[in-house]
Amino acid sequence: MGLIKFNNRIFYLSHEPNTDRPLLTYIKGDEFSLAIDAGNSADHVDDFYKALESESLKKPDLTVITHWHWDHTFGMHNINGLSIAHKKTNEFLKEEKNRLRDSSYLDNLKKENIYLAREYANNKDIIVTLSDIEFEDELVINLGGLRAEIFHTQAPHSEDTVLVYIHEEKILFLGDSTSEDFFNNNYMDIDKLNSLIDTIEKIDCKTCILGHTEPLSKNDLLNYLKSISV
Ligand SMILES: [Zn+2]
Repeated sequence: MGLIKFNNRIFYLSHEPNTDRPLLTYIKGDEFSLAIDAGNSADHVDDFYKALESESLKKPDLTVITHWHWDHTFGMHNINGLSIAHKKTNEFLKEEKNRLRDSSYLDNLKKENIYLAREYANNKDIIVTLSDIEFEDELVINLGGLRAEIFHTQAPHSEDTVLVYIHEEKILFLGDSTSEDFFNNNYMDIDKLNSLIDTIEKIDCKTCILGHTEPLSKNDLLNYLKSISV
């Protein structure tokens, strides 16, 4: 599965349902390139970088994390350049790193999560690392010719939800923010969902890119979210 060219500045590697690998994005500025999410393992990052190389794209200078879940962060130790995450993402990752010191915790994770078991078959090491750069509310990066607006927002999926908006391309990256909370019995908090719907509505975007599906139009995403928020 190769890199998909969304336009001249945005490329992505699609999600992989078998191992729950999320979609990884590459944003090419005139000066710097930014990746969104670090994937579920070192192998996932390697596959992403190979796909970039085959399109003659250099490795990303920066990688921003949308939330702390394993499939978006366990590749972080293997990225090129600097990683960026929300303060809460790092707090969650620190806890996860501590839990993983106990091998029975990892055994349980593998029992409960078939995707993680598949990705980490053959006793491949899990390495959890915190980000190089940490922020709290928002961070704007001038990539050259386009700006990445990175901000924390309320969402039903996780407390540390980070969205990335590229105004010049009218595109909004949402990670898994629109999904229920897998760590709270798949609970869908309707207030948080409505808050997220408001956030999306106020943003001038045409395309919405989520972690585990193909790109959607803003309207299609909002119509779907409104249908489940009642
Ligand atoms: Zn998630």
